[in-house]
Amino acid sequence: MTDGPEGASFSGFYKTAALRMRRELEGASASPGIGIGAAYVVDRRRVHVPRTKIERDDVEPEIQRFHEALRACRQQLEQIKARLPHGEHRQILKAQQMMLRDPDLILRTETLIREELANAEWALTATTDQIITTLESADDKYFRERGSDIAFLTENVLQALLGDHPDELDPPAGAVVVAHDLSPADTARLHRCQVVGIVTGVGGRTSHSAIMARSLQIPAVVGIEDILEVIDSGDVVIVDGVHGHVIVRPEAEEVAHHAGQRDRYQAFEVKVRKEHAFPAISSDGLHVTVRANLAISEELDLALRYGAEGVGLYRSEYMFMNRPALPTEEDHYRMAKLVLRRCAPYPVVFRTFDLGSDKSSELLDFEAETNPAMGMRSLRLALRERPMFLEQLRGFLRAGVHGPLAIMLPLVGSVDELEAGLEALEEAREQLASAGMAHAEDIAIGIMVETPAAALIADILARRVDFISIGTNDLIQYTLAIDRENEAVAYLYQPLHPAILRLIKAVADAGLRNKVPVSLCGEMAADPRYTWVLIGLGICELSMHPSAIPVIKNIIRSSTSAEMKELAERALQAQSGKEAEELVFAAMHARFPEHLLHGGGAGGGEPTP
Ligand code: PEP
Ligand code: MG
Repeated sequence: MTDGPEGASFSGFYKTAALRMRRELEGASASPGIGIGAAYVVDRRRVHVPRTKIERDDVEPEIQRFHEALRACRQQLEQIKARLPHGEHRQILKAQQMMLRDPDLILRTETLIREELANAEWALTATTDQIITTLESADDKYFRERGSDIAFLTENVLQALLGDHPDELDPPAGAVVVAHDLSPADTARLHRCQVVGIVTGVGGRTSHSAIMARSLQIPAVVGIEDILEVIDSGDVVIVDGVHGHVIVRPEAEEVAHHAGQRDRYQAFEVKVRKEHAFPAISSDGLHVTVRANLAISEELDLALRYGAEGVGLYRSEYMFMNRPALPTEEDHYRMAKLVLRRCAPYPVVFRTFDLGSDKSSELLDFEAETNPAMGMRSLRLALRERPMFLEQLRGFLRAGVHGPLAIMLPLVGSVDELEAGLEALEEAREQLASAGMAHAEDIAIGIMVETPAAALIADILARRVDFISIGTNDLIQYTLAIDRENEAVAYLYQPLHPAILRLIKAVADAGLRNKVPVSLCGEMAADPRYTWVLIGLGICELSMHPSAIPVIKNIIRSSTSAEMKELAERALQAQSGKEAEELVFAAMHARFPEHLLHGGGAGGGEPTP
C-alpha cells in the first residue's frame, strides 16, 4: 500500500503543526545535498503470509505457479533496467535478477512445497526468512545489508503469487520520499520524478537505496529506525544529506535557513561541475593528477564526466562477486579492454584481486580465520591461488594493447612478496608469448602501501616499481590497530594521527628520492578537509570516488602549493590526531566553507561495494 501525499503542502503542515511537535532525527548520510519538501510516505511493511495445506496432486502445479511468479519478477526487473541509463543502479538490478535464479533459494522453496505440502507463498517466505537471518548474522556489513535485497525480492514474488499490484510510487515533484526501505523498482521510478530527498528506516552507506540515491544525486539520509512512526504524508521534512540530519515539522525560520543553504549548495555544484574538465593546477603551478576509483566498468562514464584523468584504482575483486562462476582470462581481458579503450588516452590502474578479509566471494572457499584482516587475503591469497592469479594477469596483459595499462599489487608487505608478485607477472607474460598471443610489453607496475611495514621500507620497494599508491583505509587500520569494519572503535579512526602523517610523509619522500610518483587512493583522498595536508606532504596524485572529483579539483586550483605545504608542516608538529584535526579543520573550514559541505565528514565517503 502506498499512502498518497494527501495534505502534501506547506499549508497542510502549518495547520497541523500546532498539534504535532517538531522532531530532529539522526541517521547516516547516504547522499549529500539538502532537500526540503512535503513527505510522501511509502509503507510496504510485510503482511502476514498464512500457511495453507495443499493436496499432493497440487504439488507440481504449485511449483509451476512459483516459477511463473519468479519469471514475472525477473521480467519486471528487466523492464525497469531497460528504462535506466548505465550505472551502479543497473548493476544492482542485474544482481537481483541473478538472486531470482539462485538454485538454493529455488530448491529450498520447492522442497518445502513438496515435503510440507505447503503453499508457495509460505514456502518462499520460510526460505527467505532463513536466508535473511543468516545474512544478518554475518560479520561482513556488505552481506548484512544484502538481507534487505532478499526481503524486497520476496515481497515482489509474493505480490506476483498473490496477484497483488502495489500502487506504483508516484510522488509529486518536490516531495521527500519516506520509507522503511526502497526497492530498486521504487528508486528507478524516482529517476523520473523530481523528488528532492529520501529518508529511509534501514540501510547504511552501502545499502542499495544509498547507492541509488547517490547515483541519482538526491539528498538522502538512511538508517533512522521507526521513521514511519514519526512522519506522516504531508509533513514538511528537511533532509540534510551532508550531516545525516532530518528535521520533521521544522520551524518556519529553519525552513528559510535550510532553503538558503540548499540554494547555495546547488549554485556551488553547478559552478564546480562547469570547471571539472580543467586540470587541478594550483595557482602557483603545481599539477596534481586527479583520478577515479572504480569497482565496475559502468562507473567509468560518470568518472570521465566528472573530470577524472584516468582510473587510479580499479578494484578488480568485484569481478569475483555476483556471478555464477569464477572469471576466466577471457572475462578479465574483455572487462579490461573495454575500460582501457573508453579511458584512453588516460591510463587505468588495475589492482589485482584484493579478496579475503572484508571482501569475500561466494565462489571461493574461504577458510574460517580468527583474524581475517591479518590472514589469507589480497596478494597473499593471489600468490597461493597462483592459477587464478595468472589467469587475471594474462587477461590484463592482453588488454594492455588497447590502452595505457598499469597493474598494481595490493597489500605488499615485503620485498619477497613484491618479487613473488613480479615473478607471477613475468610467468603470465611468458605464457602469452609462448602461446603467440598479443599482449602489452611496456606497462607500469606499482604497489599499494597499506601496512606500516611497507611504508617503512618504501624506499626499498620504490626502487623496484614504477609507482606507489597509498591505501589509507588499510594503512590506518593496521597502524592504529582499528578494525575498519568495527563501529565500536570507529572513534579511534584518525587519518591525521601523527603516526599516519609521518608514514605518508615517509612514503612521499621515498618516492621523490627514487623518482617514483606517489598517489593516494584511500577515502582520505575524497575528503576536502585533507586535500591541503596530503598535497603538502608530497602526494602528487589523488584517486577517489567520481562524484568527489570536481570539488577536490576546485580546491587545488584555488590554492598555492606554499600554503598547502605550510599546513602540512604545522600538522606534522601536532602532538595528537585531535590537535592536528583541530588546526587542519579550522584552516580548511575558514578557507573553503562551501567545499566542505560537499564532502567533508559524513557526506564524503564512498560505497565500498
Ligand atoms: C585502501 O585500503 O585504502 C584501499 C584503497 O583499498 P580498499 O579500500 O579496497 O581496501
Ligand atoms: Mg586496502
